[in-house]
Amino acid sequence: SQLQTFSQGLNKEELLEKDRSYMWHHMSQYNPNPMIATESKGAWITDVDGNRYLDGMSGLWCVNIGYGRQELADAAYEQLKSLAYFPLTQSHVPGIRLAEKVSEWLGDEYRVFFSNSGSEANEVAFKIARQYHHQKGQPGRFKFISRHRAYHGNTMGALAATGQAVRKQKYEPLAPGFLHTAPPYCYRCPFGKTYGSCNLECAQVFDEVINWEGAETVAGVIMEPTITGGGVIVPPPEYLPKVREICDKLGVLLIIDEVICGFGRSGRKFGHQNFGVKPDIVTMAKGITSGYLPLSATAVRADIADCFNEPGTNRHFRHVNTFGGNPAACALAVKNMELIEEEGLVERAEQLGVALREKIRVIENHPNVGDIRTFGLICGIEMVENRDIKQPAEPDKVTKVIAESKKRGLIIGRNGDTVPGFNNVLTIAPPFATTDEDLEFIVRIVKEAFDTL
Ligand code: PLP
Repeated sequence: SQLQTFSQGLNKEELLEKDRSYMWHHMSQYNPNPMIATESKGAWITDVDGNRYLDGMSGLWCVNIGYGRQELADAAYEQLKSLAYFPLTQSHVPGIRLAEKVSEWLGDEYRVFFSNSGSEANEVAFKIARQYHHQKGQPGRFKFISRHRAYHGNTMGALAATGQAVRKQKYEPLAPGFLHTAPPYCYRCPFGKTYGSCNLECAQVFDEVINWEGAETVAGVIMEPTITGGGVIVPPPEYLPKVREICDKLGVLLIIDEVICGFGRSGRKFGHQNFGVKPDIVTMAKGITSGYLPLSATAVRADIADCFNEPGTNRHFRHVNTFGGNPAACALAVKNMELIEEEGLVERAEQLGVALREKIRVIENHPNVGDIRTFGLICGIEMVENRDIKQPAEPDKVTKVIAESKKRGLIIGRNGDTVPGFNNVLTIAPPFATTDEDLEFIVRIVKEAFDTL
């Protein structure tokens, strides 16, 4: 009967037929039989056939708190009844409360601009950075530098900042003014060095690139604390502080993209807090509502924001967004953050991450496992054909591990683009609601899936 409610009386075949006729799916190659999810609780999803799966990817890295939290539904419901909409050209209470809470979690005074998606949050960051330099008398600063392998979103600017060729081809030209440097990828060091005996060339290169480009033309550097969607590339601990230092020296703003790493995923409230740096601008989305409703934010250091707030000067940020900061989404986000605090879920994510790192070692000697990288409750398993020469695993092998896991009730992800088109990094980032038993399940299934190769 529950299934009837969700599917409005249609059986699976009828649903699939309508799906094929009317739905255009995100990203995936044409799939006539997509999984149709109907219910969820904790770390688990149920499909239209009644099969249960542990969602080892928290949806698209977003359902941090876990599925089925009544309190979040209630917070949105109550807000929808009292004030469903009001534009943030003026203000509303849940928006004010959320902006304060985000600022508190960042541990400093930031002013928060709301949008609906991670891509938009990054676009906002780029526009604010350019306008800031304009208003500070340096209108020539328009370029942004990011890393190859990074993903920053699907819109023309955010995609231009993205450093993965296959995502951009066929859509170019994108926004001008975006440049890329090599990532801090110790397993395949782009500088041919070994961590411990290197000079952190991956960080130092920002100094060179900014100077070669002309520092007076560079507005900002954008990076995730750890590259997530481009193969889980975890930087050495000194990397971010070094980039911060270079940005400060050259007058370039440091934008940290916390769309995935934020809201506890890294084992801290925000990913950059693992490295002791203070960003100029922080972008966030996904985990802010644990994926329950669309919402994103761009938090800007107060002294930068001040330069937009001089009455009578026409220096305001000329950017309006109809849905950004919808009251119900903000109310839900506040409740989400309160629950994360009250239930100690940042600490729980850290604990789960440590346990996963330890337990996943059961596969570390498998011939197709090249490298295992973790950052908080994010795990990337880089698959190779040959461990000596690190040749990326054939796509079919990666597909097989994913399919064998799914057959056994576990959803895991895949990305990487190690060689363009070779997505040979498996990803695991389950909700913080994952129980100890669930974690054992994840590790057992991944091991069994590798054993089928
Ligand atoms: N930035 C990062 C690091 C992301 O992983 C993503 C999405 O996966 C985005 C930005 C874009 O977010 P959205 O899909 O909400 O536009």
